[in-house]
Amino acid sequence: MEIKGTTKLLGVIGHPIAHSLSPIMHNAAIAALGVDSVYLPLPIAPQDFAVGIAGLAAIGLQGFSITIPHKQAIIPFLAEVSDIAQAVGAVNTVWRTDQGWQGTNTDVQGFLAPLHHYEWDWSQRVAVVLGAGGAARAVVAGCAQLGCAAVQVVGRNPQKLEAFRQSWEKSPLAVNLTVHAWDTLSSLLPHADLLVNSTPIGMHPYGKESPLENAMLPHLRSHTIAYDLIYTPRPTPFLRQAQQQGAIAIDGIEMLVHQGAAALEIWLQQPAPIEVMRQALLHHLEAKH
Ligand code: NAP
Repeated sequence: MEIKGTTKLLGVIGHPIAHSLSPIMHNAAIAALGVDSVYLPLPIAPQDFAVGIAGLAAIGLQGFSITIPHKQAIIPFLAEVSDIAQAVGAVNTVWRTDQGWQGTNTDVQGFLAPLHHYEWDWSQRVAVVLGAGGAARAVVAGCAQLGCAAVQVVGRNPQKLEAFRQSWEKSPLAVNLTVHAWDTLSSLLPHADLLVNSTPIGMHPYGKESPLENAMLPHLRSHTIAYDLIYTPRPTPFLRQAQQQGAIAIDGIEMLVHQGAAALEIWLQQPAPIEVMRQALLHHLEAKH
C-alpha cells in the first residue's frame, strides 16, 4: 500500500484508540482491493469532540468508524442518521455526502451475519441476551430483525435493566422483550435457542471467568447457539463450556469482521474481502497471544 498525495483518508475515532483492531482489518482489505485509500487511528478526547469532528471535515476525510465513548455523541453532528442507528441509539459508521456527514450502525448487520447460516424459523425461537450495555442494544435490534418470538435480557442492575426495557417500548422495531435478574438465568437456559454473551465476562480482566456457572450447564440445550461477542481469548470460557455441552458456538470475530465489511462497502462502494479481513485479525490476535 503506497500513500500518495491522492490517497483518500478513512479512520476510526475513539478514546483511547490504541486497542482498536479496525486499522489492521481495514488496511488489509484496502491492500487486497488495491484502492488508493488508508485507514488511520484518530484519537479524539471527549472534551475535543466538536473541534475534532470539524477537523475531519476540514481535511476531507471520506468516512470513519466510531468506537467508545463517541457512538452517541456523534449523532448531533450528522445530517442524516439511518433508521437502524436510531433504533440502536448509537452510530458506528459515518460517511461524507453533499448534505454533510451521514451515519448508520453496522453492528446489527455484523451480529446477524453468522446467524444467517442457520435457516431457522426465528418466529419460534427464543433469544437470551446476557448484559444490557451498548453491544446488547445491537443484539436486541438484530433479534428484532430476525423476528425472534421472545428476547430475554439478563442483567445485574435492576435500574439499568428497567431503563433498557423502557427504551425498547418506544422503539419502531417490534420486539417482545422482557428483562430478568441474573439469579433467574438457570430457569431461562432450557428455553434459549440463541444465548448471547454481551458482557465483558471472559475478556481481560475477567479472562478465566464465564457468565455461566458450571452448575447451569446441564440446562443448556445441544441445539442452542452460544454466541460470545468477545473475540479474545479464543475460545472464551463461555464458548468452551457451550461446546462441551454440544451447543453451537459463534465467537465475536464474526461480528467484528462483518460490521467492518459492511462499513467498508459503504465507503468504497464495492464488495469487501471478508476472508482477508478475518485472516488479518486472526493473524494479529495470534501474534499477540
Ligand atoms: P458496556 O456498554 O459496558 O456493557 C456491558 C454490560 O455487561 C453491562 O450491562 C454491564 O452491566 C454488564 N457487565 C459487566 N460486567 C459484568 C459482570 N461482572 N457481571 C454481570 N454483568 C456485567 O459494554 P459493551 O460495549 O456492550 O461491550 C460488551 C462486550 O461486547 C465487550 O466484551 C466488548 O468487547 C464486546 N463487543 C464486541 C463487539 C464485536 O464486534 N465482536 C462489538 C461490541 C462489543 P452494568 O451496566 O451493571 O455494569
